[in-house]
Amino acid sequence: MHDLQRFCCQNADCADYGKRSHGNLTICGHYGPRQQRLLYCRTCKARFSERKGTPLFDTRLPADQVRAVLNHLAEGCGVRQTSRLVGVSKDTVARYSLLAGEHARQLHDELVAFSP
Ligand SMILES: [Zn+2]
Repeated sequence: MHDLQRFCCQNADCADYGKRSHGNLTICGHYGPRQQRLLYCRTCKARFSERKGTPLFDTRLPADQVRAVLNHLAEGCGVRQTSRLVGVSKDTVARYSLLAGEHARQLHDELVAFSP
């Protein structure tokens, strides 16, 4: 049993982009120390990390802003300061701040890797 219905294709050009529980996704591998799954879309043949489809990425925040938030947090800026400097809500900053410790570098690397 997989929990793939939580995920959807992350390729904006795909016919099944954003459709959850559509049956187009399969697991094609694992990566990283936490054995995160690599998902494969049968429709467009794209591969992406399962973390791309989780709520972490479901913020409608442009990747540039996510990067800016993470960079400010990494530089030691507080939530309020980062919120003001980047121009995003404190809630958003707080959410990334929670992830900042262990995940920030990984997330940052991932964003860079997936950016055009
Ligand atoms: Zn697809």
